[in-house]
Amino acid sequence: MAAWYAPRGGTGSSPSSSPAERGRQMNARRRRRLADFGFFGLLSVCALLAWAGFEYHFSRVLEDVRTAHEQISQRDTRHLNAHIGHLIRNVDLNLSSLGSAIVDGERLPEWTKQLDSVIRHIPYLRSLSVVDADGRVIASTTPENLGTVLSLDSYHPTNRVPGDVLQIGPPHAGRDLADARPTGDPQTPTPDQGFIPIARSFGSGDARPLTLLATLELDYFRRILADFRTTPGDRISLFRLDGMRLLDTSVADTALQQVEQALALRWQGGETAGMQTLDGEQGQQLVSYQLNEGLPLAVVINSVLDEALAGAYAESRSSALVFLPLSLLGLGGALAAYLYFRRAGQHERSLRRRAEARRHLLESALNASATAVVITGTDARIEWANPAFTALTGFELSEAIGRMPKELVRSGQQSREFYERMWNTILSGAVWRGELVNRRKDGSLYDEALTITPVRNELGELSHFIAIKEDITAARAARKDLQAAYARLQTVVDHFPGAVIMEDMQGQITLLNDRVFDLMNIPRPPGNLAGTSIHDLTLAASKLSLDPTTFAQRLDMLRERAQTVYGEELAHRDGRWIERDFIPIRSTGSTDALLGFLRVYRDVSARKQQEKALWLLATTDPLTGVRNRRAFLDKVDAELVRVRRYRNDATLMMLDLDHFKRVNDLHGHAAGDAMLCHVVRLAHSLLRASDLIGRLGGEEFAILLPATGLQGALELAERLRSTLEHTPLVYQNRDIGATTSIGVSLLQAGDSSAEMILARADSALYAAKHNGRNRVEQA
Ligand code: GH3
Ligand code: MG
Ligand code: MG
Repeated sequence: MAAWYAPRGGTGSSPSSSPAERGRQMNARRRRRLADFGFFGLLSVCALLAWAGFEYHFSRVLEDVRTAHEQISQRDTRHLNAHIGHLIRNVDLNLSSLGSAIVDGERLPEWTKQLDSVIRHIPYLRSLSVVDADGRVIASTTPENLGTVLSLDSYHPTNRVPGDVLQIGPPHAGRDLADARPTGDPQTPTPDQGFIPIARSFGSGDARPLTLLATLELDYFRRILADFRTTPGDRISLFRLDGMRLLDTSVADTALQQVEQALALRWQGGETAGMQTLDGEQGQQLVSYQLNEGLPLAVVINSVLDEALAGAYAESRSSALVFLPLSLLGLGGALAAYLYFRRAGQHERSLRRRAEARRHLLESALNASATAVVITGTDARIEWANPAFTALTGFELSEAIGRMPKELVRSGQQSREFYERMWNTILSGAVWRGELVNRRKDGSLYDEALTITPVRNELGELSHFIAIKEDITAARAARKDLQAAYARLQTVVDHFPGAVIMEDMQGQITLLNDRVFDLMNIPRPPGNLAGTSIHDLTLAASKLSLDPTTFAQRLDMLRERAQTVYGEELAHRDGRWIERDFIPIRSTGSTDALLGFLRVYRDVSARKQQEKALWLLATTDPLTGVRNRRAFLDKVDAELVRVRRYRNDATLMMLDLDHFKRVNDLHGHAAGDAMLCHVVRLAHSLLRASDLIGRLGGEEFAILLPATGLQGALELAERLRSTLEHTPLVYQNRDIGATTSIGVSLLQAGDSSAEMILARADSALYAAKHNGRNRVEQA
């Protein structure tokens, strides 16, 4: 198996960052660049070779075409020369036989007959004439010619050979000798009317020679030349050996004329056939010539090579059109393949580099980790460990490699079964976690949290174990301290004079005492409630409340605002009063994070009852049960505020029993007290619920009538006065009558205090007393 780490004898840094590694990478880069240059060089050489090969092939094709053309041209020249020679020789033979007849002395009429017979057999002969030594035509197949004097010199070349030789004259325009005109004459008729004269002189001894003159149809020969022309653009000429042009299929350009003159010199020098190329006005030309054996004639064919080669050019170019794209395609394919494989190589290298970088990163991370990591084989022998292992156990890596952890750190504090369970777990392929006590190299013990993860190779077989070791000595001690602190806290809470509930931010109970259940009058659920949800407890508590909805909403609001509230009083359904403190708990560190909420509940029903009793004592007249002076005046003050704000009516009446001293005196002080209670009862029976009675002192009372005008108050006062007058107190089987005087006064917005109103009512009361008692007066 190829492990991702390489066990080695040291904890040194990874080699991938070493100078040697960097040098290796640079060399690899240089090699890759060289390969690129090499490939592109090779590609260029291939392209050049392909191009050169094509050019070579092209030039070879042109060369072949050119050679073939030369051969054709020479053959044509030869054939044409033979053909023309045959025609002229035919004429010459006839001229020779005619000449012999003439020399043999036949007479003129006979000549004419013979001339006619010859001309009938040779279609291209126009006329046949006999010219005497003076140049006069003495016999002719064309009668118009008779008598015409000709200068035969013009029929001969300058270096004329005297004697019995055939001579060919320059081509003449015209119908015949009679109207022959020199070449270039503006009167020259069309070419088909021209002719070539051929002369053969005869003579023996001193006799003046006679000459036989034949005129050959110029057009006939021209047509032969024209028919013979096999290659379009070829120019065919017939020359006399002195360079005079006898016949031509087209006009020669200047360069060609110069060549022809040079050729004439060669012919005269004895050269009979040949070939030459030249750059003429129409491009490169091939000039092929052939002299006729025995005749003073030369045939010249010149062809424009460019035209002849144009076809070959076109063909080669068209093959290049196929060949070049194919070669380009081939080269392109090679390039694409190279680039593909190059890219694939790059990709693979980049993958390898990334894998190497990741391996390096992981190894660095393990080396930097504060947690000890140990890798063992399945035989439990250590193959690698990180520096944190050395820091934890005191064993250097070199000491540890090849040994088993139990040989190094076993403390003997764990049982044999402990280790058996561990081995069973990891050999089954599962991860094992546990805590144990191990021994350092220096002999000291430490607590360790150990996680062993089995690693499988690609075949699925166990190959290694990775052990992660953490020193938890301090953590274990801290945990013990924490547990002790928690136990102490729970004891305190259990003895706390109130119900204590603490919840965390997840709504789970963190602390609780049994008083909670005492207060709620529900049995305590069994088991440890820490960590369970607070929800059920809150629900049960809310049901005890007078207003469960408000109870729950208020708790939610306090949690949301994390508000501290002390001594909030809650009324219970069963009449009890419960006081609650709500205290958000925050961490003491700099973070000040909210940890949860503490609630403390206390039953304050007894205190509430005491407070109520004290309040009644302070505000109530013990004899009659109505408000005492102070409490009554407070109410009047409050009503005065409403009168000022809302401008509503309110009245106050003041009562003083008439001659009360006499009741005391006649019936005793207890009867007086009973009378006072009687008066209050009667008043209560007449008043509305909103009306208030107060005892101002002695037998003086005051009544506050909110929302009552003066008229209404006077009527009520009168009713009260009259009722008392007619309702005696029955005391110890005796009727004791009493009357009262009443002063009534309206509360006014301008009044500064209740005392001021009371003083006004008192003055009305005084008036009532003064005016005879048992009456009502207003102020
Ligand atoms: P007047 O018509 O002028 O008011 O005559 P009066 O006798 O009622 O005179 P005054 O109001 O001055 O006398 C009040 C008497 O009321 C004095 C006292 O003996 C009597 N008194 C005051 N407080 C009490 C009380 O609490 N109980 C009894 N039984 N008598 C009281
Ligand atoms: Mg009085
Ligand atoms: Mg009185």
